[in-house]
Amino acid sequence: MGPHGHAGLTLIIFSFLMIPFGYSFEVIFLIILATALSSIPDIDLIYGWKHRDKTHNIGFALVVGGGMSIILFYAMHDIVIVLTGFIAGFGGVISHLLGDIITYKSFAPLVPFSKRKIALKYCKADDNKVNIGLMIGGALAFTLYMLVVTGNLEVMIQNYF
Ligand SMILES: [Zn+2]
Repeated sequence: MGPHGHAGLTLIIFSFLMIPFGYSFEVIFLIILATALSSIPDIDLIYGWKHRDKTHNIGFALVVGGGMSIILFYAMHDIVIVLTGFIAGFGGVISHLLGDIITYKSFAPLVPFSKRKIALKYCKADDNKVNIGLMIGGALAFTLYMLVVTGNLEVMIQNYF
């Protein structure tokens, strides 16, 4: 999966998950931060480490979530923002793992809890249709989130039906 595919998938997941939490600074911050962090496991490609190894598992998700919490704790001293940072870091990486699982190259996403390797082999990681489709899906899902939580979807439905 490419960075745009991961960003799109993360937008889809977090937009839907956050609908029940409504509209607030923290929720918008969470959605944007998780999306921005969703490609962080692929730093292994930049540094020439073994691909889909150390950075592609739950353990790394906890490290990224913890790292975001610490940065935000020192920056803002606000427990809700600290928690938001953890969920964004952890969730952004987990979303990345979900995106990579549907491709061909297997890896062990449950480390350190299990060494089992998984690959659903649904598409190639650089499949343009899937990557661009996820990006567009992310835009639609985020738009839906905004329309629902601001009450505009309700108004639109009342006006047209
Ligand atoms: Zn990856």
